[in-house]
Amino acid sequence: MLAPPVNRLIAELSRLPGIGQRTAQRLAFHVLRVTDEEALALADAIREVKETVGQCEVCFNLAVEDRCRICQDERRDGAKVCVVEQPGDVIPIERSGEWGGRYHVLGGALSPIDGVDPEHLRIAELLERVSGNGVGEVVVATNATTTGEATALYIADALRERAPDVAVTRLASGLPVGADLEYADEITLGRALRGRQQL
Ligand SMILES: [Zn+2]
Repeated sequence: MLAPPVNRLIAELSRLPGIGQRTAQRLAFHVLRVTDEEALALADAIREVKETVGQCEVCFNLAVEDRCRICQDERRDGAKVCVVEQPGDVIPIERSGEWGGRYHVLGGALSPIDGVDPEHLRIAELLERVSGNGVGEVVVATNATTTGEATALYIADALRERAPDVAVTRLASGLPVGADLEYADEITLGRALRGRQQL
């Protein structure tokens, strides 16, 4: 019914998270309707992030240079490290305004059923980074899901062994159980950070 290039665009859009077939169609027709300039700006933005954005060599957050902007910021407290699953989890924590430390992005959560074992995450890098480098506290801010909780417990155990002097804390309850951090509002998240407890 539709020209092959239009079908291709709909197929690509429908692969995006949260975008069903119907929405993909609506977006594709929107792209066809707008000016070349407007449509190609989207294509260019996608190309640019893929070509320029990599991982921070210290914390594995997104970075354009070797180190992300948070690791480059001298005012951030290097003695405090907040562990999150994904780069997107940094955003709500920053927005809460309650965190002045640094981050460590794991790249996911432990899930043996899905084949995600400790060696697939940046856990070894965390242990290396934390042991004997002046870090006093690690806040484990993995999601309040089964895999997020399992990951938090694993990290707490590993840190107790490798870096017994480091306090390991977990966000206080109040976060919706089973929910991803990126959907938490900043007030709830700020409260959870302030009330973090020993793990
Ligand atoms: Zn970094």
